[in-house]
Amino acid sequence: MAVIVQKYGGTSVGSVERIQAVAQRIDQTARAGHSVVVVVSAMGKTTNQLVDLAHQITSTPSRREMDMLLSTGEQVSIALMSMALHELGTEAVSLTGAQVGIVTEAEHTRARILQIDTQRLQQHLDKGKVVVVAGFQGVSDRDNLEITTLGRGGSDTTAVALAAALPADTCEIYTDVPGILTADPRHVSDAQLMSEITCDEMLELASLGAKVLHPRAVEIARNYGVPLVVRSSWTEDPGTKVISPAHTPRVLQGLELVHPVDAVEFDTDQAKVALLRVGDRPGIAARMFGEIGRQEIDVDLIIQSIHEGNTNDIAFTVGQEMLKRAESVAHAIAPVLRSEPQNSQEAEVMVDPQVAKVGIAGAGIIGRPGVAARMFTALSSVGINIQMISTSEVKVSCVIDAEQCDRAIEVLCETFELDSSPVALSHVPMQEQPAVRGAALDMKQASLGIIGVPDRPGMAAKIFQTLAEKGICVDTIIQSQRCRVVDGLPRRDIAFTLPEADLEEAQAVLADLASTVAYGEVVVNRAIAKVSVVGSGMVGHPGVAAKMFSVLASSGINIQMISTSEIKISCVVDAEQGVKALQAIHAAFNLSQPQQMAVSH
Ligand code: ASP
Ligand code: MG
Repeated sequence: MAVIVQKYGGTSVGSVERIQAVAQRIDQTARAGHSVVVVVSAMGKTTNQLVDLAHQITSTPSRREMDMLLSTGEQVSIALMSMALHELGTEAVSLTGAQVGIVTEAEHTRARILQIDTQRLQQHLDKGKVVVVAGFQGVSDRDNLEITTLGRGGSDTTAVALAAALPADTCEIYTDVPGILTADPRHVSDAQLMSEITCDEMLELASLGAKVLHPRAVEIARNYGVPLVVRSSWTEDPGTKVISPAHTPRVLQGLELVHPVDAVEFDTDQAKVALLRVGDRPGIAARMFGEIGRQEIDVDLIIQSIHEGNTNDIAFTVGQEMLKRAESVAHAIAPVLRSEPQNSQEAEVMVDPQVAKVGIAGAGIIGRPGVAARMFTALSSVGINIQMISTSEVKVSCVIDAEQCDRAIEVLCETFELDSSPVALSHVPMQEQPAVRGAALDMKQASLGIIGVPDRPGMAAKIFQTLAEKGICVDTIIQSQRCRVVDGLPRRDIAFTLPEADLEEAQAVLADLASTVAYGEVVVNRAIAKVSVVGSGMVGHPGVAAKMFSVLASSGINIQMISTSEIKISCVVDAEQGVKALQAIHAAFNLSQPQQMAVSH
């Protein structure tokens, strides 16, 4: 007999008929002898309708009253679902978030779960009842009993948190799609169902997967090792398994708050190669990394920041034993990469034979604007200058002077309260994992370049700290290679992408900050798209980045920015070419082929 948490989304409980159909499914599981906890969302579009109602009264509703209002949607569903189960002769009881003991922080409309008191839940289960819990809501603490909600889409988070707390043997997320697809089917008609995906991949694909599964739910699954599956409410198909890594047991106190960062990673065996002033036109990155790939040179980080005039800088790191070869490829190819054929000035190759990469990794980096800033602040507090920055949803990596690596590790472990030993990154691919699992397109971002930031410790820290204080979540951060001396100071550009909705506020913040940090212009581009491929198996597969760049080149698409993590490659391209880029990449990586059943773990 197993303990099973099942979550049904809004469409799955969108009408009386659907509630009855879902009740059948729950009933079968309960009759098979399992203990069943059901989490439901509000019916259909109820939550949106409630939001509309509020806005008919005021454009600035109080956040507390919003929670009071929105939490009613789920309360309707739990009562109806219990009644439907009763009709089938199954004992069931509905409980609100407060009744089930979901205690959250007092942050209305976006509360994080602090702890779950499962005693009451357990008592009902022991009596053989199905417990139907209202998703998306909790209560602030036992003294002031404020009703809170977890943020839109938060019922998934309720389900996985309950599964972690019980603990349950499995958590099943039932939805109106068959599982997680290799790309958004609205853009890619032959997107395929994935049989499995790791939590890290899922988080890196947030812009693809977030509609199907709330990223905070994935964080909890990853941190607590909850076996998770996403499947259709209407078929018996197995859906997509979301695999969590082997995990160290964690306390349930502060459930969603503890340690946004769970590892400090480093690699001292790195060298840096930069090509300055290559042409800003389609095909440049493809030629460069195509040649690197043909020589079987395994590159690690790749970064291309915003262009300057008609040229770009591209930098990458390689293992030190590869440096000689990478350097000669770079020199050989530099002449053909020049900005214009008639331009006499060739791309310049710049090499640093000994750098180190330090990074922080953890499921809590996405959506917490302060984490990257804390890393930069920590490094600057011990006088470390950051040479390259590359960020992704679950990682922030910085390239620094090799001699400062130990100091960096020490201060990062201290800052993020990690006593466990730092992880040396391995270059061994995860054998059974595909190099590319899925592709995503994010059209909701804008890019922002800060030109001429003084090249000394603390500058990135200052900028991202200030943005974080305003609650602005930056996404991909890239620091350029080119260093120019202006007003007697060496300077570099820092560019990043951020949600378009935050752009104006970010511009205002940066306008204020310009007097303290003394940088030049701030360049904005709203018309961008970010395309990414993700796969745990790309570690140690030199060809993946090259292939992505060459696919974009042969579709005539110019790459504006590049940023990579170990398991992700992202390119910023023109907004108008986003869908075309996604389609081309999806096809090129054979993601349109039905996936083989993967090996189970
Ligand atoms: N009903 C809430 C929403 O629409 C929570 C959920 O469905 O997950 O956002
Ligand atoms: Mg949802």
